[in-house]
Amino acid sequence: MLAMGATRVAVIGASGRMGATVCAAVEGADDLELAGRFDVGDELGDLAGADVVVEFSVPDASPANVAHCVSRGVHVVVGTTGWSDERLATLREQVARTQGVGVLIAPNFALGAVLMMAFAAKAAGYYESVEVIELHHPDKVDAPSGTAARTASLIGEARASAGLGPVPDATTHDPEGARGARVNGIPVHSVRLRGLVAHQEVLLGAPGEMLTIRHDSFDRVSFMPGVLAAVRAVDEHPGVTVGLEHYLGLG
Ligand code: NAD
Repeated sequence: MLAMGATRVAVIGASGRMGATVCAAVEGADDLELAGRFDVGDELGDLAGADVVVEFSVPDASPANVAHCVSRGVHVVVGTTGWSDERLATLREQVARTQGVGVLIAPNFALGAVLMMAFAAKAAGYYESVEVIELHHPDKVDAPSGTAARTASLIGEARASAGLGPVPDATTHDPEGARGARVNGIPVHSVRLRGLVAHQEVLLGAPGEMLTIRHDSFDRVSFMPGVLAAVRAVDEHPGVTVGLEHYLGLG
């Protein structure tokens, strides 16, 4: 719970597709005030006196932007993907040196996507094989998507708990590795198609049956309730949190 009065929010990556949508959502919220918009080349300085920064830029720029916010004692809600274990470890060290700064890194802020990941992890322990298909607009710079990587990670953990381990090579018949990436032992396929926004299917198979769990974001407004909920709660979660599910009681 931040101090009384409107919470001051600055957006980094403010000229981008997500950043611009976040700016509009903040301006439309009575309890929030858009304190500043930053994009490539802008001096971040004192972050326009923001209480919370929302960061949607590019994977190679995000760690330095977030480190700047943390060094200023400002909470950060991060949507940019590309957070490797190494980058996360460095961030955790930076945050540990602060007095209770909160950083949330969420590969997907859509409530339905968070539920899709939770349902997929729940189902994963019951199926012999599982594959992920992620589908996005062709301007997306990374593949597989952060959501797919996070889903594969959660599925891998669930399979390990159930004693299932990685999806065996023998079931995918992929000696050349031509069927797509493997993330945490789970096959992940990336589709880039004009007209799409952000979509994902988790296919779970067993002899004679298949379960499909699918989520579609048709518009970037689908991410805004999750982003704004995170902005309002990030100060209550000191340290680095990965995944919006931990703020929603689903983690
Ligand atoms: P975009 O290309 O439309 O916008 C990126 C913006 O970042 C641009 O305005 C660019 O100029 C700016 N930028 C580049 N370098 C910068 C720097 N050093 N400092 C500040 N700003 C800089 O991309 P997008 O579609 O808005 O996506 C942004 C990120 O968010 C991507 O990593 C994408 O995968 C991710 N994303 C996450 C979610 C989620 O729910 N977590 C949803 C959609 C997209």
